[in-house]
Amino acid sequence: MQIPDLSSTIVALATPPGVGAIGIIRFSGPRAIIITDKIFKGKRLENQPSHTAHFGKIMADDGRILDEVLVTIFKGPNSYTGEDTTEISCHGSPYILQEIIQLCLKHGARMADPGEFTLRAFLNGKMDLTQAEAVADLIASESAASHDVAIRQLRGGFKHEIQKLREELIHFASLVELELDFGEEDVEFADRNDLKSLVNQIREHLCPLIQSFALGNAMKMGVTTVIAGRPNAGKSTLLNALLNEERAIVSDIPGTTRDTIEEVLNIRGIQFRLIDTAGIREAQDTIEAIGVARTMEKIEQAAILVYVWDVAGGMTLAEVHADLAALASRNSVPGGTNSSNGVPRSTNSRNGVPGYIVVCNKMDRNPLFQTAWLLDPTLPGVHPYLLGDEDLTTFKKLSNLPNSSFIIHHSSLIPVSAKNAMNIEYLKEKLFEAAAGEGVNTESIIVTNARHHDALRRADEALADVLTGLDSNITGDFIAQDIRRSLAYLGEITGEIGVEDLLGNIFGKFCIGK
Ligand code: GDP
Repeated sequence: MQIPDLSSTIVALATPPGVGAIGIIRFSGPRAIIITDKIFKGKRLENQPSHTAHFGKIMADDGRILDEVLVTIFKGPNSYTGEDTTEISCHGSPYILQEIIQLCLKHGARMADPGEFTLRAFLNGKMDLTQAEAVADLIASESAASHDVAIRQLRGGFKHEIQKLREELIHFASLVELELDFGEEDVEFADRNDLKSLVNQIREHLCPLIQSFALGNAMKMGVTTVIAGRPNAGKSTLLNALLNEERAIVSDIPGTTRDTIEEVLNIRGIQFRLIDTAGIREAQDTIEAIGVARTMEKIEQAAILVYVWDVAGGMTLAEVHADLAALASRNSVPGGTNSSNGVPRSTNSRNGVPGYIVVCNKMDRNPLFQTAWLLDPTLPGVHPYLLGDEDLTTFKKLSNLPNSSFIIHHSSLIPVSAKNAMNIEYLKEKLFEAAAGEGVNTESIIVTNARHHDALRRADEALADVLTGLDSNITGDFIAQDIRRSLAYLGEITGEIGVEDLLGNIFGKFCIGK
């Protein structure tokens, strides 16, 4: 991206194109007020104080009145972009808007590029990159949760955290660099153990930020959750129970859910897009075959797979394993499968990567699940010893397999009765955990942006290299290099260093006029 010439004055429609009660045309640049004055008949705007609004007319070159308008003026640096800015609020007719913009172009303004107002705000030091990105997120926010994280980021919470980490690192770097200056003399200004503990401390700060991305991404984008399982397992009934309404068609005949059904479920601010799928058994007829093909497509995109196991239907745990392994092999979400052996990861995997949940449905009709439930209705998960003998043997066999990380962790097994709405709230809690990670604090700083997440991860990797370097006593210049690498990644987040290549990527996604 070309860094814009800040001596030019830009103009754009700031409201959506089309007919509206009002439309707003926005200017920014050194000649913003002068150009507006040329087409505005009313008070002379140049002589008015900043942050004032003025009523008047916009006149065409041939003397026609184009519209009666309200002009607001903001003088730099106290404006959104940091430059002189005006906003013309006129009637929202596409003709009027077009004519006024044409007039401005004639008088020396140029059309703004997408995101150029916010880019100028960044270049003029009015906001850092994370805040500029938050503006885009704010405009795009569709839910209370995504709005909430964007507002927090816009107010700069993330920036301060990054700056603090950078300061600590710079302090560390200066100690190492100081040693380099005295390289010949073999001095050590900083005790190696102190340095290690400093790096560890910084990594401890980075870690929750990196981990918060699972929640941040879920809040921003929603979570695609596929409900899969064999026909008649109770998928549609479960969807209804989760949504607390009759949405999907429930029937006794296998294969009656013919198409995929998508619904949005809000759990503690995260939007889960629940997709009920047609049965995954062999399709019996053509319509159902289409449903099955769609199911497979959805499974490929799912972040969480809820597998419904009819525990009253005689299906064994080994068969559940086989179904899950087959489903996981189709899922393209990283973490959906364990890359080393292609089998699904449970939601309890150490890094909290979203994966699958096995819902043991129809617990009301299986004495093993039922007894446990009746004895202790608060029972959170069902334990292996509650499984039938045959299943238990399979379970044991699987868990003893060398090199097999694939056993269904018992806390991923959630007994419910979809029909009787038993244990549904607990299942919702598990869904939230699967998306956000366990024990997350929605009040702390949450990283929502993939670019930030990536930079944080790389900064952390560079610090891991610093530690390895310290352990293997490599020379100070290599350590200094790794520290600088880490600093550069952190600087990229807020836009303090080397971000020219990124600008096009970030601001190109904005709408024109922002
Ligand atoms: P799907 O094909 O997986 O979508 O299954 P449905 O939701 O259509 O359910 C199949 C049958 O199982 C229906 O007759 C449901 O009423 C029944 N069913 C679903 N959940 C339960 C449950 O928790 N207990 C019992 N006893 N029956 C259930």
